[in-house]
Amino acid sequence: MDRIGVRLPNPVGDVVAATPFIRLLKQRHPEDRIVLIGSAKAIELLDGLDTWHEAEAIEDSPSHGKSSSFDEATFLKHLLLDQIYLLPNSFSSALSATIARIPVRIGRRAPFRRFLLTRRLPKVGKPRPMTRVYSEMIGEVQPPKIELGVTERGDRLASETLKGLAEHGIHPPFLAVAPGAAFGPSKVYPCELMAKAVQLSAKKTGLQPVYFGAPEESELIRSVKSIYPAPFLHASLSEMKSLFRECKALLSMDSGARHIAAALNLPQVILYGPTDPRWTNFEQEMTVALRRKDLSCSPCHKKQCPTDHACMKEISPEEISEAVTTATQKGKILSF
Ligand code: SF4
Repeated sequence: MDRIGVRLPNPVGDVVAATPFIRLLKQRHPEDRIVLIGSAKAIELLDGLDTWHEAEAIEDSPSHGKSSSFDEATFLKHLLLDQIYLLPNSFSSALSATIARIPVRIGRRAPFRRFLLTRRLPKVGKPRPMTRVYSEMIGEVQPPKIELGVTERGDRLASETLKGLAEHGIHPPFLAVAPGAAFGPSKVYPCELMAKAVQLSAKKTGLQPVYFGAPEESELIRSVKSIYPAPFLHASLSEMKSLFRECKALLSMDSGARHIAAALNLPQVILYGPTDPRWTNFEQEMTVALRRKDLSCSPCHKKQCPTDHACMKEISPEEISEAVTTATQKGKILSF
């Protein structure tokens, strides 16, 4: 029996996109142990799935803040892995696995990794769904569906939150709204427009909006909430997964929340701006994607817009509320 490590990516959306790869890995190595290694957030997100045996969260180093390659190598060494799949294309992830002396290190070609990997796969190359980018690493070009599971802890926290909301007369079904994006401000729809879109969507659908966001997005959400008040649910990822069952649709950017919703079969309305949808256009059956296709600058993949942010500003709140209505009425959707 081999111990097979999977070094998870960091962005939440990419972690979800890695779930078909993990499923395939388990199917092809039924006798071996699958060990996930990643951030505490990534591990929390994948808790509730039956596709892995152990999960180890890499803690930040107390002295350096972020964990260094040497800290990570020490950590990896104790896991006694026989092989490791490196899903991030970073030099540091390959360096840690090499210092930890993991005998088989599998990853894609990327700058300075040539002598660190024992099995080198082709560079990432042209845009295509990240689910496929990962599943190709195990020789599969048609990945199964993304998946996530809920946990008892998440359900318990969600039921406490629902109880608290009920005491204030607030009840499901909800319209989940996630206005933030870890990528950067270029991906974020302007606050005033978002508040208007939420207001119109609530009026048209009769749903109770609730805001979701990471702690670092609190200021942004407070700004939207100050224009259109609705509860801000400071939910952990496990609680958020459980709370999504109380929602009829999600309105979000091209962000991690979208992928979580897609994995849980919650219809989504997604506002695309500076990023190329070809990287994330998987599990589209329940997605309404809004994007200005006529802009020559898009996709720019810049974190800050160097011009007028037209890719976001030119999506109107009315269009969004139309899309939310369609999403909630049909359940299964179209793509604009
Ligand atoms: S440069 Fe264009 S695509 Fe990039 S953020 Fe600005 S408006 Fe959007």
